[in-house]
Amino acid sequence: MTSKLTTTNHCSDIVGLKYVYPVISRRMGGLSIGVNFNTNNACNWRCVYCQVADLKIGAAPEMDFKLLEDELRFFLDDVLQGDFYDRFQVDEDKRSIKDIAIAGNGEPTSLKEFARAVELIGKVATEVGVFPRSNYVLITNGSLVHQPRVQAGLKILSAYGGEVWFKFDSASEEGRALVNNTAQSCLASVNNLMISSKLCATKLQTCIFDYDGRGFSEKEKRAYLDLVKDIKTRGCNLQAILLYTIARPSQQPEAIRLKPISAEILNNLAADIRFLGFDVSVNL
Ligand code: SF4
Repeated sequence: MTSKLTTTNHCSDIVGLKYVYPVISRRMGGLSIGVNFNTNNACNWRCVYCQVADLKIGAAPEMDFKLLEDELRFFLDDVLQGDFYDRFQVDEDKRSIKDIAIAGNGEPTSLKEFARAVELIGKVATEVGVFPRSNYVLITNGSLVHQPRVQAGLKILSAYGGEVWFKFDSASEEGRALVNNTAQSCLASVNNLMISSKLCATKLQTCIFDYDGRGFSEKEKRAYLDLVKDIKTRGCNLQAILLYTIARPSQQPEAIRLKPISAEILNNLAADIRFLGFDVSVNL
């Protein structure tokens, strides 16, 4: 018997495929089809709130392109022509494909043949009529955007009308080291953000939470607001800023030290960012 697929049930191997998995997205109000390039649970960062169990430092393994194509065609056919929604008891009002998201257990742009994979997903989804109706999304920490092979992928994503969700949790070096466990500087990240926004529609995604009772300090808030103001002045054309807090348990050793931040803090920050002329959404 299959289980019910809900907005709280995020079991990624529920359909038993290697690369493709379904998620019912509360925010989107429908089916989000995830494609996981990092089947080895490898990322070049280690965010303290990361939900990937057994996370390792590293890059995505070689892609089996034949298998990716077979899985995507099979799964899209099951959703569009088969009884997928019935088998997984998906609520009637959630029975539409909202997006195909390259998002998985690690940093997807670390895949060596990243551009080829972006092209393949775009081609298959277009052939079966999912694109351009549904969105094409890349969820990334943006740390490798300076690499030409990643930029080639972003151009292809843009050609399919896709968008980049670029992770940016803190505008201070201490904050980045603490939250993302990355040695990449804030400046390097901003440079990559500028490149991304030139090549493809780009949204900033920022996770704010309480770490060891620190809350969201005035210093962090000021640094964040100064940064988004600065990038706007420098011509960075962000489509939107997505603010959210932790909703599901971290799988990292710091999990016990993390708590969601209050709606009030997120909404206040959203108001300050809107005042700077950005479109902002808050996801609690
Ligand atoms: S960038 Fe994403 S996958 Fe990598 S550690 Fe952070 S949350 Fe996890």
